[in-house]
Amino acid sequence: MSLKRQDIMQKQDTMQDSQDLQAIAEEIARFGKKLVSSGLTSSRFGNISALYGSKIVISCTGTMLDELETGQIVEVDLNGPCILDRIASSETCVHRMVYRSTAAKAIIHTHSPFAVSMSLLENAVVKPIDSEGILFLGDMPIVEGHFGTEELARNASAALVSHKACIARGHGVFAAGKSLVEAYTAASMAEHSAQVKYLVDAYRNNECG
Ligand SMILES: [Zn+2]
Repeated sequence: MSLKRQDIMQKQDTMQDSQDLQAIAEEIARFGKKLVSSGLTSSRFGNISALYGSKIVISCTGTMLDELETGQIVEVDLNGPCILDRIASSETCVHRMVYRSTAAKAIIHTHSPFAVSMSLLENAVVKPIDSEGILFLGDMPIVEGHFGTEELARNASAALVSHKACIARGHGVFAAGKSLVEAYTAASMAEHSAQVKYLVDAYRNNECG
């Protein structure tokens, strides 16, 4: 192959990469709007990422999820901290360890009110009682660790090896999937199952009281 032809092919690959990246960033921005409009998190809280080869494409720190633009989404290294971590989501280390420990290709983190409430009411796990939650979501382990810490990264990634979602106690949901659609579905189910359980428990406690 002539050098010239090699250069052209490399250039085409680079163009394809940037088009793919643009498409992923647009998808992340779309799911940011969906998370807020569906009440899964308020605009100021939460983050979204997708795996792209040896990179993680993730929303920047301090962004409004419902106003997310592709310029507020950054590429960081999968294999370890990099310079762009400082503008990426403050939960980047959690996303990174989940990708390195599980089969996840996309992660959504929300501060969903019923899931957060249930994580403060239960000891170790939130068990769905609604039929879809039982069938498609399964147990949600409650994990410990402060925002953006190695402890939270370790605990969340261990939980997501065998669960679709876990809840950082008093903080929020980490939901994972093989695509953004799957991660969004898990995040939606996590909040729905937590809400149903909260309401049923509250009713029963009231009846007993
Ligand atoms: Zn958070």
